[in-house]
Amino acid sequence: MNYSDFGTKFTQLNGITQLMEDLGNAKKSNNPNIVMLGGGNPAQVPEVNDVFITELQALIATNKVSPLFGLYDGPSGNDEFRSALANQLSSYYTWDISADNIALGNGSQANFFILFNLFAGLMPNGSHKKILFPLAPEYVGYADQGLSADMFVAIKPDIEILATPNGSKQFKYLIDFNAVKQTLANDSSIAALCVSRPTNPTGNVITDAEVAQLDALATQYNIPLIIDNAYGDPFPGCIYTEANLSWNSNIILCMSLSKLGLPGLRTGIVVANKAIIQAIGRVNGSMVLSPNSVGPSLVTRLIKNDALLPLCHNVVLPFYRHKAQVAITLFNEIFADMNVYLHKVEGAFFMWLWFKDAKITSEILYQQLKAKHVYIIPGHNFFIGIDDNWAHKHQCIRINYATDAATLRKGLETIKHLMA
Ligand code: PLP
Repeated sequence: MNYSDFGTKFTQLNGITQLMEDLGNAKKSNNPNIVMLGGGNPAQVPEVNDVFITELQALIATNKVSPLFGLYDGPSGNDEFRSALANQLSSYYTWDISADNIALGNGSQANFFILFNLFAGLMPNGSHKKILFPLAPEYVGYADQGLSADMFVAIKPDIEILATPNGSKQFKYLIDFNAVKQTLANDSSIAALCVSRPTNPTGNVITDAEVAQLDALATQYNIPLIIDNAYGDPFPGCIYTEANLSWNSNIILCMSLSKLGLPGLRTGIVVANKAIIQAIGRVNGSMVLSPNSVGPSLVTRLIKNDALLPLCHNVVLPFYRHKAQVAITLFNEIFADMNVYLHKVEGAFFMWLWFKDAKITSEILYQQLKAKHVYIIPGHNFFIGIDDNWAHKHQCIRINYATDAATLRKGLETIKHLMA
């Protein structure tokens, strides 16, 4: 095929598409022995599922199928949902926002594609701009979203070994603010900062003070700060530390219905200043006419009735907090006699293991585990823009612990066996 530059770039089999194909094939095989700890699927939380089914039945009973899937919404997404969410966020967080500060898209992934390419890449004056990730490792889904090459720069983290009361071997990545400041001062091509909070893959939740410092730097350099809140508050609300959500007109806050249990409904949400929202709407208009209306329609009544946030706080958060505790307990037990460190579990539903004395790379471990039908994600994929020579990049793996304890145990024990 004679593909364009776009076609050539986006049809390449890269690290993550290869992984996604592996995960897809594993799922298709229906092999009951598969231990699936890869991918980013949320758990099916029974009480939450019941609520969604009740909402769907209510929409059908009242014959409200037109707004559900019988009409095109506007290009920024379903108006009723945008207004309801704006009201909720402005009353809950006292932010000065309206529906005009909210745009929807077909998943956060699609929204990030638009945002990154709005700000970075080839500029009208011929210059080339980039997105800066202040804290590597970062969400692998960003890696191949640039329409042009060389669109992402990342900063290596500071690594802090934590003193834990029970001797649990844990560490935490911290933002190296000196390096961030130096990069901003020396590289005028940085067009935006972007950080996921909670972070996929590590479960890190950068502190309020770190957010404030990033926000101040973004403002100083007149560039936006993009915060990927896919796992954060107020929904799904998978945060196990003290952390507050902040927004101002220079912050682009990205949210999603996926981790609440609705990844198939492909609903991503952007909260930003009105100019950015209008820009997203215009790109949506060209790309997809209007975003999916099923997700927003299903959730609007829950927002209007003030039922969604209590559901997250009282059901979703305890559900995942318990999973996190199980994961830490299993880690402490299984890896007690090995030089393996767990990233402090502060949010989302991933364990990030660092094999300090690894004799094989995380990629080789991935291949060996795959042969045993155990699926994880090898860590090097998440170090977007970080040079390959850094040994640490090849010593980490990501494990999705939103599964049952028996499956997690089996997977961790297989990993231990291969790494011992
Ligand atoms: N951001 C992060 C940090 C994620 O982990 C994911 C999915 O796993 C996404 C964004 C994309 O989510 P979605 O497109 O399903 O809304």
